Amino acid sequence: MKFALLSGRRVEAQPKLRAICPACSGEVIAKCGQHIVWHWAHSSRSHCDHWWESETDWHREWKNRFPTEWQEVPMVDALSGELHIADVKTAANLVIEFQRSSIHPDEVRSREDFYGRMIWVIDGRKNDADRFNFRNMRSNPNSDGISQFQWFGRSTLFSRWHTLKPVFIDFGPEHGFWRILRFDLKTKRGLAGACDISGFVELASSGATDFSSVGGPGSV
Ligand SMILES: [Zn+2]
Repeated sequence: MKFALLSGRRVEAQPKLRAICPACSGEVIAKCGQHIVWHWAHSSRSHCDHWWESETDWHREWKNRFPTEWQEVPMVDALSGELHIADVKTAANLVIEFQRSSIHPDEVRSREDFYGRMIWVIDGRKNDADRFNFRNMRSNPNSDGISQFQWFGRSTLFSRWHTLKPVFIDFGPEHGFWRILRFDLKTKRGLAGACDISGFVELASSGATDFSSVGGPGSV
């Protein structure tokens, strides 16, 4: 985690500090190494949010595009008591999850059920082949910024994120940031919209939309 509570304030990890997890109130220890993203780790056990993935520069870069008070917001299900920490939750209660590691479609669904009003931002640079393949398999964007693509090969990138919630994939500065509008599991054809990251951040922050009117890659 980027933030923990120290004397009631949200603070970032600094060498040798101990603090309190804002979600479970357990003790957390600052992990500050030369080759890691400085973060807080629970001292006594595994992370209280079992969906939490270890943070990379990519996660931090994305979270930091939003105000700090929207980053890492604990959420508890009133009925079940289940606890998770939203990567970003805007003032308009839109949750944005930044996801780098692959997760099972069942877990995708669980997270969507838990957060409700949410969108996914996926790290498309994790697998080198994906971004090059995407560039090679898509048409140039039309005047509305929409590209068609035909997915070949073994990568399950698009079948893993075949969901009804909005999905954006960050293929990096050279290959762009795309909203996956549709993907057909049988034909492996899809539609993607080229997005500008700062425009996306502005729109997501504005509260004007939760992006749900267009649905997700699996919508019809
Ligand atoms: Zn905790």
